[in-house]
Amino acid sequence: MSMREDISTPRRTKEIIQRHGFSFKKSLGQNFLIDQNILGKIVGSAGLDASKAALEIGPGIGALTEKLAEVSSKVVAIEIDQRLIPILDEVLEPYPHVKVVHGDVLKLDLKELFAEEFEADTRVSVVANLPYYVTTPILMKLLEEHLPLENIVVMIQKEVAERMAASPGGKDYGSLSIAVQYFSEPELVCIVPHTVFIPQPNVDSAVIRLKVRKEPPVHVENEAFFFMLVQAAFAQRRKTIANNLKSRFFAKEGREELERLLAEAEIEPSRRAETLSIEEFARLSNIFYRQGLQ
Ligand code: SAM
Repeated sequence: MSMREDISTPRRTKEIIQRHGFSFKKSLGQNFLIDQNILGKIVGSAGLDASKAALEIGPGIGALTEKLAEVSSKVVAIEIDQRLIPILDEVLEPYPHVKVVHGDVLKLDLKELFAEEFEADTRVSVVANLPYYVTTPILMKLLEEHLPLENIVVMIQKEVAERMAASPGGKDYGSLSIAVQYFSEPELVCIVPHTVFIPQPNVDSAVIRLKVRKEPPVHVENEAFFFMLVQAAFAQRRKTIANNLKSRFFAKEGREELERLLAEAEIEPSRRAETLSIEEFARLSNIFYRQGLQ
């Protein structure tokens, strides 16, 4: 290893940015990490070692990429901003096992990328300081495509992390909690102060770890229908589950039928969606689906 200063020190970060005349684009969620402790915590939470690989989304100028390269056998980093590609090529030159891919993670065929870049039996973690404007679409894409992932460790907006990890009963629990928990076991790793970034974002941040499930925790007959019913149940949070479901699935005269189906699922019509567990949603969705509701 060379004695060069880490990319992520405030001094080297500023030097790289100035030398390349780089200007931050707020629209791409560019807030770069300049704190060794936080970087260590993120990488440590992913449990990487020389037998494992990492996929990074949005490497910026390579602060996290460098740390990933130091512990894993292969790193693929997808960056949308063309201006960063020559910078990454330069600063990551000491790490030949890092591959930088220029592209939009939301548009790339990730299955194909995995097949091309990772050995079939390598365990892969996604590790990233995500651009906050697209956190949820990126995470849902990673989870829904059933990629062979071990875990996902990401820095995201604190409020979003809290919603993803929320249990039934509170204000944070909603359709995002259920979608994320269907595919993974989320765990809040730490809350992060603004001061670890340049420029500093104007929202609070947190690191969350999603342990990707091999099988969903509940049996759902039709996944698309399940997620649609969950969305409908939370349409108006202050309304009861019966009222939200009635607006979405039944005509005026359908109240009795709705109450019969809720009774079959053993769910009181007066409850609110935020009190229902993922098991209860699965039960309800299977009953509605078998009934041919749409
Ligand atoms: N990893 C770096 C760090 O921690 O210092 C930079 C993180 S910064 C919060 C987010 C990065 O994601 C930026 O480099 C931005 O250009 C990139 N980005 C934004 N949207 C993207 C997308 N759709 N696909 C790939 N990269 C994206």
